[in-house]
Amino acid sequence: MLGTTHLLFAVLFGSIYIKYMGTPEGLFLQIFFAATLILGAMLPDLDSKHSTISKQHPTASKMVRIFSGHRGIMHSIFIPAAIFLIATYVIPNLFDLPPELFAGFLIGYISHLASDIITIGGLELFHPFSSYRIRGFIRTGGKLEMLIASLIVVYLLIF
Ligand SMILES: [Zn+2]
Repeated sequence: MLGTTHLLFAVLFGSIYIKYMGTPEGLFLQIFFAATLILGAMLPDLDSKHSTISKQHPTASKMVRIFSGHRGIMHSIFIPAAIFLIATYVIPNLFDLPPELFAGFLIGYISHLASDIITIGGLELFHPFSSYRIRGFIRTGGKLEMLIASLIVVYLLIF
C-alpha cells in the first residue's frame, strides 16, 4: 500500500476506535493519540528503502533494514503484540501513566498490517517463526487501492 493509503486506513481505524471507546481525555492526550496513530501507521515501512517514511528518515530506515527485510519482523504481529503487553503489564507498574497512552500507536500499527495483508504481496504475520503468508488481491498503487482510498475518504467525510 502507498503511504497515503496507510494514513487513510489509520485515520479510519482511529475514528472507529474513538467512536466505540470515546475520545482520549484532554487536549494533550488527543494530540498524542493522533500523532502516535500516524507514527504507528508509517513505522513498519521503515523496512523498505523506497517507502515515504524511509525517504524522510533514511538513517532510521538503514538501521531498521540491518535486522529486518521488507515485510519481515517489522510487518509481523510480534511488534504490536510486544508493545501491547509492555503497555498493559509493564508501564503501569513503573509509571503513573494512563494505560491507553499506547492506543494510538497500536491502532496505527495494526491498521498498517491490516492494509498490507489485503495486497497481493501479503504478509507473513508470524515471521520469522512461520513463512505462512496471508495475502489479498489488491495491487499496491493500483486502481483498486485508489478506489478503497476514495471510499475511506467518503466514509470519513460522511460519518
Ligand atoms: Zn507495509
